[in-house]
Amino acid sequence: MLKARKTVLNLREYHPPLAGRTGLRLDFNENTEGCSPRVLERIRQITPDELSRYPEREAVEKLVASRLGLMAERVLLTNGVDEAIHLLCEAYLDPTDEAIVVTPTFGIYEVFAEATGARVIRAQCDGEFRFPLEATLRAINSQTRLIAVASPNNPTGSVATRAEILQICQAAPDTAVLVDEAYYDFHGDTVLPDISDAQNLFVARTFSKAYGLAGLRAGILAGSVPQIKSIRRVSSPYNVNAVALLALPTALDDAEYVRNYAAQIKKGRQRLAGVLNALGIGYWPSHANFLLLYIGSQHHEFVAAMRQRGILVRDRSADPGCDGCVRITIGTAEQMDQAVPALEQVAMELGLVRAAKV
Ligand code: PMP
Repeated sequence: MLKARKTVLNLREYHPPLAGRTGLRLDFNENTEGCSPRVLERIRQITPDELSRYPEREAVEKLVASRLGLMAERVLLTNGVDEAIHLLCEAYLDPTDEAIVVTPTFGIYEVFAEATGARVIRAQCDGEFRFPLEATLRAINSQTRLIAVASPNNPTGSVATRAEILQICQAAPDTAVLVDEAYYDFHGDTVLPDISDAQNLFVARTFSKAYGLAGLRAGILAGSVPQIKSIRRVSSPYNVNAVALLALPTALDDAEYVRNYAAQIKKGRQRLAGVLNALGIGYWPSHANFLLLYIGSQHHEFVAAMRQRGILVRDRSADPGCDGCVRITIGTAEQMDQAVPALEQVAMELGLVRAAKV
């Protein structure tokens, strides 16, 4: 009987709980408002001719690079950051290699790294979910070929500083260091300019979050010229579809839309933090468009009760070190007007106002 590779058969399936998402979507860290109306208008104007051609990535790649202040040779457009991670694993990991993944974090690093047969080493955060610099440095050895750092991190919202990232790049010069800046627009700090000096540094960005285009699947991978050249070899020339390529120039043009959305979300983040402080529910400081809450043993009940009130939030209890944690994506001001009273009611009902602790 035909069998997939043993590594593949042993792989944990990455299956996000997307089914039955009716209600206010505060569960997947998406933009909760939708993309810029100008982008939608551009998509509506797509012609049969534009769709019948194979998609041409290069021109849009040049445009994206120039907006980022980079040479085009340093930038690869990808089918979301997910594909950027996949390509990095394909390009750098052999079955005898090791990949270090800051934990807890976005689950896909582990899946794609393990799919190559490489061993995943987890650098665990402390109870405050601070970036585990010492644990990461300790885990580096001659087998290390990839280090994945999400900054801001998901599901914690914590960040690694530029000094910490550069220290890691220097400590592991033969290792691809990925800094996943998917939530950059809600934070503002970046190590993107450092790709000119650190030859092993890669920075990923996405159009899925602040830009409101998660369904379009478009991301950016930036790095040194020779490294991006290698990665192009393992990428399909048509990895980014025509609709995405036609929409991206307009999305980039409407920078104001993204700025306004991010500003609104930062306000909402502060507001939710204030509400949680008042209720005595613990949470961790976040630089992204979500907060991680400590709910405790009633995390299931909390998620279910929020759902009953039409608000979807995500149970992160199964993530390493996250027992009792629930993640809430920040919505617009009106959406928070809906979410906050629901949260207050559920907290009262479940007795969390007394029981919660950090
Ligand atoms: N990186 C991080 C840290 C994320 O949280 C997510 C989305 N959950 C992604 C990447 C995925 O991004 P994309 O939609 O561009 O594949």
